Amino acid sequence: NRRVVLASRPIGAPTADNFRLEETAIPTPAEGQILLRTLYLSLDPYMRGRMSDAPSYAPPVEIGATMIGGTVSRVEKSLHPDFQVGNLLLSFNGWQDYALADGVGLTKLDPHMAQPSLALGVLGMPGFTAYMGLLDIGQPQAGETLVVAAASGAVGAVVGQIGKLKGCRVVGIAGGAEKCRFVTEELGFDICIDHHSDDLKEQLAAACPQGIDVYFESVGGKVFDAVLPLLNSCARIPVCGMIAHYNDTALPDGPDRLGLLTRTVLTKRIKMQGFIIFDDYGHRYGEFFNQMNAWLKEGEIKYREDIVTGLENAPQAFTGLLEGKNFGKLIIRVAND
Ligand code: NDP
Repeated sequence: NRRVVLASRPIGAPTADNFRLEETAIPTPAEGQILLRTLYLSLDPYMRGRMSDAPSYAPPVEIGATMIGGTVSRVEKSLHPDFQVGNLLLSFNGWQDYALADGVGLTKLDPHMAQPSLALGVLGMPGFTAYMGLLDIGQPQAGETLVVAAASGAVGAVVGQIGKLKGCRVVGIAGGAEKCRFVTEELGFDICIDHHSDDLKEQLAAACPQGIDVYFESVGGKVFDAVLPLLNSCARIPVCGMIAHYNDTALPDGPDRLGLLTRTVLTKRIKMQGFIIFDDYGHRYGEFFNQMNAWLKEGEIKYREDIVTGLENAPQAFTGLLEGKNFGKLIIRVAND
């Protein structure tokens, strides 16, 4: 039984040295418990927050403890009446081969599901984040302009496609020509801009001749700087993430733009709202799941997974996620399904 523990807290960008791969005995379930084998592990940006002990909405991973994470797992042994050997579950095993569970917080997956890893992506937490953030906070209307940051990623790809289904003009922002091509040609966004371009501001302005009505914020930094002057009156900004700042150790140098931001929010009557998906919307997961399942069956929503094989490769894959090295929903295949 292998597990990846947090060896030390990163200062700035995490490196492989912040993690340690350990071997332990496979645990034995007691009465009322099940033994789970991890098949797929989801790697997500929020894990960077758990590596730090700065105050946040959730407690940090302790030094020496197994890294946390959502998983698709198979029941290997069961001493619990509600679970049988072979059941496929959505669980929270973290970065390890095996884990014990007592049945709480587990979701049974359809045993005939063609691609169980989708429960960690388009049909799981990232898809749910896109759906609620856009529809509940963003309130997109047909004909409006929606701008989506981190557009080729797990959340952004779904945001833009739902925006198209709602009749918006959808402008993506992603890192590099290959991701931008995918966003327009495969996902059907109207246009996608490479945030590495020197003239990001000018390109975004040209792509949004009617201004921006909804900005789905996942990045911050220079992407938000380019968006701010283009916001229309009564624009909505679901604040989902700010990945460009997760490795910051201090406020950036440069002029204080807080006044500019609050003046824009005030004079343009902008609604800017943060959300933590399961805390705020957990009760609506069923609604999302049914709708997304239907869209997938109808071919209305496309997805891309970036699957890396081997638990031992999780640290490197995770540090790459914060640098844009992933292309699609990042998942570790821990064992074969
Ligand atoms: P992605 O699959 O989109 O992967 C992260 C991407 O972020 C990278 O591929 C990279 O894409 C982009 N990125 C990284 N650093 C920068 C940077 N400095 N500037 C611009 N882009 C950058 O991840 P997810 O879809 O899983 O998550 C997207 C966002 O949503 C994150 O901010 C995450 O924290 C947030 N989130 C929030 C939730 C909530 O409940 N509020 C729930 C789930 C996710 P590129 O190469 O295109 O730059």
